[in-house]
Amino acid sequence: LLEIIGVDKHFGSQHVLKNCTLSVAQGETVVLIGPSGSGKSTLLRCVNLLETIEGGSIFFRQNDITKAGVEPHRLRQDIGMVFQSYELFSHLTAAENIMLAPMTVLGVSRADAETQALELLGKVRIPDKADSFPDELSGGQQQRVAIARALAMKPKLMLFDEPTSALDPEMIREVIDVMADLSAEGMTSIVVTHEMGFARRAANHIVFMENGEIIEYATSDKFFGGDVSQRAQRFLDQIL
Ligand code: ATP
Ligand code: MG
Repeated sequence: LLEIIGVDKHFGSQHVLKNCTLSVAQGETVVLIGPSGSGKSTLLRCVNLLETIEGGSIFFRQNDITKAGVEPHRLRQDIGMVFQSYELFSHLTAAENIMLAPMTVLGVSRADAETQALELLGKVRIPDKADSFPDELSGGQQQRVAIARALAMKPKLMLFDEPTSALDPEMIREVIDVMADLSAEGMTSIVVTHEMGFARRAANHIVFMENGEIIEYATSDKFFGGDVSQRAQRFLDQIL
């Protein structure tokens, strides 16, 4: 579904992505880990064309999305992204937040958008929160509305950038459970997270980045079986 091939990027004199190559097959969940500043967010942002790359190419569904003429807004209809901060529209209810893009971008009718929003709220396990405003929801509930909002566009790929790192510990679990449900249903996802419980449960592959480089790409079984590089092991020892 996604092929990242030899991607290079600098910010000023800093080489933040060094010849990064990674492919993600349809239906799989890839967990991306690594120290702060290693380039995880930048790599995700390149996939969504929030950053431009200097070298290499990125193919999404067989098309090179880094070529001239690719419309980022069109691409982002197929690639959903959920960040650390959920940034819901505060003046809209949970259901309205989810309905907005399907209605305005895809031209879905209000009635159909609403039906879908209610279904998605069920899927993220807050079926009773349709009429709540963001400030009436917990952080974990807001993040689940943000996930539902991304899913409303029926993306082919979901990118999650530390979706639980701003949450209180008791709310992490409920967001992780929703992401694990999505993985189990076959949603293709790249997830930046240090929640190793999620990685063990849901990931097909683990990618370890350091200093802009992909140091390690391993199946979850191999990785959690202890067959990891010293650098990755040192990192794991710090976070676990
Ligand atoms: P964290 O775990 O802290 O989120 P990360 O692995 O996501 O880290 P990135 O955010 O991708 O790391 O950043 C990689 C490097 O690029 C860092 O050194 C960062 O300072 C730098 N960087 C990121 N965004 C920009 C920007 N817009 N302008 C300049 N430098 C940037
Ligand atoms: Mg980051």
